[in-house]
Amino acid sequence: VRVVQKMEEKSNKSHILVLPIPVQGHINPMVQFSKRLASKGVNKVTVVTIYSISKNMPKESGLINIESIPHDDKSPPQNIDPMLEWFHLLVSKNLRKIVEKLSDSVYPVKVLVFDSVATWAIDLAHKLGLKGAAFFTQPCCLSAIYYHMDPETTKVSFDGSDVSLPSLPLLTKEDLPSIIYDTDLYPTLRGLVFSQNINFKKADWLFFNTFDALEKEIVEWIRPRYPIKTVGPTIPSMYLDKRLMEDKEYGLSLFKPNSEICMKWLDSKEIDSVVYVSFGSLASLDEQQMEELAFGLILTKCYFLWVVRATEENKLPEEFMSKLFEKGLMVNWCPQLDVLAHRSVGCFFTHSGWNSTLEALSLGVPMVTMPQWSDQPTNAKFISDVWQTGVRVKVGENGVVNRDEIASSIREVMEEEKGTMLKENAMKWKNLAKEAVDEGGSSDKNIEEFLSNL
Ligand code: UDP
Repeated sequence: VRVVQKMEEKSNKSHILVLPIPVQGHINPMVQFSKRLASKGVNKVTVVTIYSISKNMPKESGLINIESIPHDDKSPPQNIDPMLEWFHLLVSKNLRKIVEKLSDSVYPVKVLVFDSVATWAIDLAHKLGLKGAAFFTQPCCLSAIYYHMDPETTKVSFDGSDVSLPSLPLLTKEDLPSIIYDTDLYPTLRGLVFSQNINFKKADWLFFNTFDALEKEIVEWIRPRYPIKTVGPTIPSMYLDKRLMEDKEYGLSLFKPNSEICMKWLDSKEIDSVVYVSFGSLASLDEQQMEELAFGLILTKCYFLWVVRATEENKLPEEFMSKLFEKGLMVNWCPQLDVLAHRSVGCFFTHSGWNSTLEALSLGVPMVTMPQWSDQPTNAKFISDVWQTGVRVKVGENGVVNRDEIASSIREVMEEEKGTMLKENAMKWKNLAKEAVDEGGSSDKNIEEFLSNL
């Protein structure tokens, strides 16, 4: 009997591979999701990523394993389109070997959780006899928009006027994902983003880094058509509940954070007195916009912590650098969750990338949004009009947001009555985010259901 029991135990074990595209905003949530799966007692979870990222990582990171995809080149192409094509080829060449290497009789690889933008991964998974789960690192509203506006399959064409779609607020051109109308930029990325919904038909599971309460109407509209599972926010439990100390490491950082300097500086400031400013890992402002932002921050007279990536630093005007130290701290990268969770941060000036948005919502921080491209305009629309936790800057006729507009938007959040309302709403979403991932919450139940179906 014991031998049979042992055999059954073995056959019940499973190994899940998780494959994000190698950019920061996709690696973080997918690594977090991996940890959550592993914490539920899945026997093994391995994040598969390119050698140039994994070489600086231990082979294990807490509950999960990290596996390298070998590559000869010194580093992957820097531009997004050639990088995505390079990544596709590299994974196609190496995935079988990796699956064979990682599969053993005790932990057979059963599922590939792949980045929804890697639309080619589902066929690869099926060819290797694996189930495929698409992980969307974006909100459901994006998929709902692409569902109606994909030029290949659709239905609604875009002529520049406002768009009214089921379950969504009225969207102007400025609210739509830029990929809809920006037809020249990044053709490979555009093609992949638009065709992501192919996963709705092909993948065995569909995961979204969002939570039901946040996108209630949209989720209710999609779910009778496709069985999507919301599993977010994929944030370490400690940030949602201070008692859960063991789960506090976030993602895999591709940049080195100046953690000590940031936290010490924040510790020295009053509650809600600091504006945290970041445009994420990819967005790049031109010199004129950098200058307006720099002097807009000074105009507010608030303390500010500004993340300027090393590659952007040379755009800052000298005159600003000499004034910076009166009220500001500038770093090349920070531990964003620790910063957002710090009591002295009262406002997040953000490009409204999806991770940044979800992190601010989940930690109850009101925002000023200055979206740049991709899904950021749509996230900004929801932040200001639907979730009502922030204000959006107005872009001038010359395409630049000027310093007065930047300063007055920040003041609205930091000083005016509206700020109190935004903060109250932010706290409401924070509680709902925690509820979703707590035991028995909507995201938690979706993860449990997936695992019990493995
Ligand atoms: N981030 C960070 N430190 C920084 C700036 C950003 O750790 O100084 C993290 C942030 O917490 C988020 C990710 O980088 O998880 C950025 O993702 P997002 O979707 O917001 O923007 P993207 O970089 O994809 O434009």
